[in-house]
Amino acid sequence: MPEAYDPKKVYQQHSQESAAEDWEGYQMGKATLKYGSKNKKQRSDDYRFMFDFTVINNLDKQLPSEMLTEDKSRQKSAFQMLQEDRKTLPIYPYHHNLLQAIEDYQVLVIVGETGSGKTTQIPQYLHEAGYTKLGLKVGCTQPRRVAAMSVATRVSQEMGVKLGHEVGYSIRFEDCTSPHTVIKYMTDGMLLREIINEPNLASYSVIMVDEAHERTLSTDILLGLLKDLIKSRPDLKLIISSATLDAVKFSDYFDSAPIFKIPGRKYPVEIHYTTTPECDYIDAAIVTVLQIHATQPPGDILVFLTGQQEIETAEEILKHRMRGLGTKIAELITCPIYANLPAQLQTKIFDPVPDGARKVVLATNIAETSLTIDGIKYVIDSGFAKVKSYIPRTGMESLLVNSICKASALQRAGRAGRTGPGKCFRLLGIDDLANFDFIDPPPVESLIKALELLFALGALNKYGELTKTGRRMAEFPLDPMLSKVIVASDKYDCSNEIITIVAMLSVGNSIFYRPKDKKVHADNARMNFHLGNVGDHISLLRVYNSWRECNYSTQWCHENYIQVKSIKRARDIRDQLEGLLKRVEIENKSNPNDLDSLRKAITSGFFPHCARLQKNGSYLTVKHPQRAHIHPSSGLAQELPRWVVYHELVLTTKEYMRQSLFLSVDIWVGTEEFVIDGDYR
Ligand code: ADP
Ligand code: MG
Repeated sequence: MPEAYDPKKVYQQHSQESAAEDWEGYQMGKATLKYGSKNKKQRSDDYRFMFDFTVINNLDKQLPSEMLTEDKSRQKSAFQMLQEDRKTLPIYPYHHNLLQAIEDYQVLVIVGETGSGKTTQIPQYLHEAGYTKLGLKVGCTQPRRVAAMSVATRVSQEMGVKLGHEVGYSIRFEDCTSPHTVIKYMTDGMLLREIINEPNLASYSVIMVDEAHERTLSTDILLGLLKDLIKSRPDLKLIISSATLDAVKFSDYFDSAPIFKIPGRKYPVEIHYTTTPECDYIDAAIVTVLQIHATQPPGDILVFLTGQQEIETAEEILKHRMRGLGTKIAELITCPIYANLPAQLQTKIFDPVPDGARKVVLATNIAETSLTIDGIKYVIDSGFAKVKSYIPRTGMESLLVNSICKASALQRAGRAGRTGPGKCFRLLGIDDLANFDFIDPPPVESLIKALELLFALGALNKYGELTKTGRRMAEFPLDPMLSKVIVASDKYDCSNEIITIVAMLSVGNSIFYRPKDKKVHADNARMNFHLGNVGDHISLLRVYNSWRECNYSTQWCHENYIQVKSIKRARDIRDQLEGLLKRVEIENKSNPNDLDSLRKAITSGFFPHCARLQKNGSYLTVKHPQRAHIHPSSGLAQELPRWVVYHELVLTTKEYMRQSLFLSVDIWVGTEEFVIDGDYR
């Protein structure tokens, strides 16, 4: 432990890497993370896929019987055990120093290994230290919804209270808090909305911006607003938790705020590489899982894949292969985890498995830093991730599947060494990872872009103040562009249809179901909704209305290849939006046959996303010229209108591709309406 807390000293140690390492080394003894090297000669532990069934046949006796040792303290209550667990976390020895630093400084940047206890413990320490007296709250923002829910659940258990009472969370379309809530986890977007309604955040004593380095658009705006806000609220404490690499940047941004470093606990992780990079990394991952399960000592497995679809595929194949092996091999429990997984299934990843069984968690990069799963000893890294990120230069959010950067690869491997020595299997050559580096533009630039967008949408005036439109927009828990669409629908008398479209857009890209063996049927079913090539937004409206006409029938969904869960969620969101319409006094008018009105309303929010057809059949986006294509699943893919507005731009490794939704906007291009409606002069 540091003798006495001195933030400047910690800062010094941080900026001199080797000193910091020495210090950490001193703290943590010889525990170090051992990473593979780029040097091919050192790849002595390369592995091949040698999984074969004869190995399995002889396995019964080898199979770990000592898997998951029973804990000795069965008599103790779960609550007591949780309290003891809290004391074993790396952050625990520093909690007095940490509280002292928070008291001494208004802004503090905190750096610490994933799993050290920042997210779950700091708000509790603050609560215990009296920061929630007088009805004040500690707010903690998360870049991901899943993390906000899962962490709030854990903290409510640790405090022995009911989730939603003293400890709650608030994410888009789901507010699980009460008037008694004192620790509130939320997405950064939700806090942003609160600031709009309560500009000085009077009900908070502390705001912790967690994982600030993830930098969504909302985080960037939030940091900018908070920087200003703390001047008028000298009693408000601000904590920024960040990955090591970005800590100095956040510190600089907040006028050299001190950096508090929590040394982590690391155990050695052996890195194994495939001899050649694997093209089919899903298959390679599955084979590796089975290989580990068959030959390696107890310990759970964490597999990093890129998205829901891949995870579902991998789960299916894995279950199928395990069934094929019957009782020859111990039970393998698969737990998927990705952003859109229903909440009740998400918590499954934390459940301990029965004796003799092994758990395999199939995760997106959500398990890299946002969630810590205990008991993981083996990590399988596909080397890829799908990252939704805001690119300040172009002012766009994008979803990019790409090789992960070196820092992520190290972070992933580190997940195997949290509670003991572990192993990491990499399915991609390390050389690729080494060449991929952080894209990391300065926050100020993103902030300007974000404000520019709000200005263009008419939410801010030229003095940067919220306009009436902006105030109405703020009522909706939606991205500004979608909120604008709803507010604009008032003018075009079509709010009833627009909230349906917005609700359908809000459930993401998961309305249509396309099973592998029935692709043609599914595509035909989808084409029915596209009839007349009116644009995908209108198709979504048709889907919803047809479903409603059939009394929200599940059977209808099956027949039309519509995901029941997703469309039900859309209905739920729609109900909430309907309630919000009343609050901002927008009449719920229906105008189902006037497609022009619908298009106008949509375009008033999405005009920054318009693109023009080029001679070669591709499109060029207007705001920041970029080549793009209409996604083949779109109803406009055959049509290729002269102008389109799109919902989202997806960047793939090949070239820029547009996915999801397009709307033909031919009719107003060149008219005043198009330009003026966004108050964009
Ligand atoms: P950090 O924010 O520093 O990465 P956390 O506070 O999220 O660390 O996690 C600290 C510990 O709390 C983890 O090691 C894990 O054991 C436990 N934990 C966190 N979230 C959950 C959860 N939802 N369920 C069970 N355990 C959890
Ligand atoms: Mg955390």
